[in-house]
Amino acid sequence: MQFSELGLSAELLRAIGEQGYTTPTPVQQQAIPHILAGRDLEALAQTGTGKTAAFVLPILQRLTNPLTSPLQKVTHTAPRVLVLVPTRELAAQVLESVRLYGAHTGLRSLAVFGGVGINPQIQTMRRGIDILVATPGRLLDHLGQRTVDLSKVQTLVLDEADRMFDMGFIRDIRRIIERLPRERQNLMFSATFAAEVRELAHTVLKNPAMVEVARRNAPAELVSHSVIKVDQDKKRDLLLHLFAAHGWHQVLVFCRTKHGSDALAKKLEQAGVRTAALHGNKSQNARTRALADFKSGKLAALVATDIAARGLDIDSLPRVVNFELPNVPEDYIHRIGRTGRAGASGEALSLVSSDERIQLRDIERLLKREIETSIMPGFEPQHTHSVPRPAAGRPSAPKPAQARARTGAGNRSGAPRPAHSGTGGAKPASHHSGQRHR
Ligand code: AMP
Repeated sequence: MQFSELGLSAELLRAIGEQGYTTPTPVQQQAIPHILAGRDLEALAQTGTGKTAAFVLPILQRLTNPLTSPLQKVTHTAPRVLVLVPTRELAAQVLESVRLYGAHTGLRSLAVFGGVGINPQIQTMRRGIDILVATPGRLLDHLGQRTVDLSKVQTLVLDEADRMFDMGFIRDIRRIIERLPRERQNLMFSATFAAEVRELAHTVLKNPAMVEVARRNAPAELVSHSVIKVDQDKKRDLLLHLFAAHGWHQVLVFCRTKHGSDALAKKLEQAGVRTAALHGNKSQNARTRALADFKSGKLAALVATDIAARGLDIDSLPRVVNFELPNVPEDYIHRIGRTGRAGASGEALSLVSSDERIQLRDIERLLKREIETSIMPGFEPQHTHSVPRPAAGRPSAPKPAQARARTGAGNRSGAPRPAHSGTGGAKPASHHSGQRHR
């Protein structure tokens, strides 16, 4: 199928061509006709599937078509489209897409989110905008100050709805929805159809069309997973060793806390690894710069918390390192979803200390497989490091990784083994026969 078969206007087809896209992705093929027809939509699609263009393109089309948007000729200041997103980064990315795809439409757009001054947002809003992209908190600030008028909203988009729940935005969203006209088109995108997402869909969407697409990548298959067991207090040195030994670049490193991210980023920088930290305490400018530098390859490492990294549009990242495992196993999937895109292979390496064995077990259950574990000579864990067997009576659990806390046995020379295709050589003494999965 070609984009031209979707009934998009010449202005939009031109912008699509400028982006170098040749064919619509599955979510675009399925969603665009419904949205153009004015229907509500519930879409199960993750970042990386082309979901942003799937809603932005038909929205732009409807806004520029006098039949679907009779207000077009009137000079209006209030937005006709509201896109709610969970994070500042996603707001900036969606705005960028709106501006790229809408380059030849003359439509005006703005993103409002916290962490930057509110006054420039107010001034731009006063001059008039067609599409407003917003995080819930900042939009409520604007509503409280009466600096935004939502009475003209024709289309509401809830992007990454599951993330909005994770981040506790549901009440904010409901408060915002109360301020919208009752007659409107509603589009909801979510990576999962968790019960609460369904419930929101039920209350917000009217007779929605359903669209469900597989991930562009199936992370469990395309990404190779590995674990190095190491004591918590040796993780930083081990990570530095891995950077130095393998000349890694563009590694996304996950930490659990903002403080931990800062401390690790500092340590990496001091060791000569060009690094930035990305977390909720960083100013918007610092986040935008960090992300741009990381994408362009200027940075060797980006140390991020889960929330800061959500929804980041980073394609074909070669390697993700879990400096600490996430508490929620699903976050592991989100983390590694950034590698192995578009069929490229990716590496997910986790540095796991003895106190993280429960998280590791839960992740293996979710993946329905064991993750190959190893120990790096020179960084052998001193603490007992057993991965417990899953409780009896839980049939879905895979066999746990064997816990044989050997200390570099099999490689007594002490030298790391030659590069394993996996982590670029970070594969010394392998500790069970679990096959590698690509
Ligand atoms: P998204 O899922 O919206 O985060 O999009 C993921 C990436 O896919 C973005 O970098 C888009 O620029 C890109 N993209 C979107 N649609 C297409 C398409 N039809 N062909 C190629 N790339 C696309």
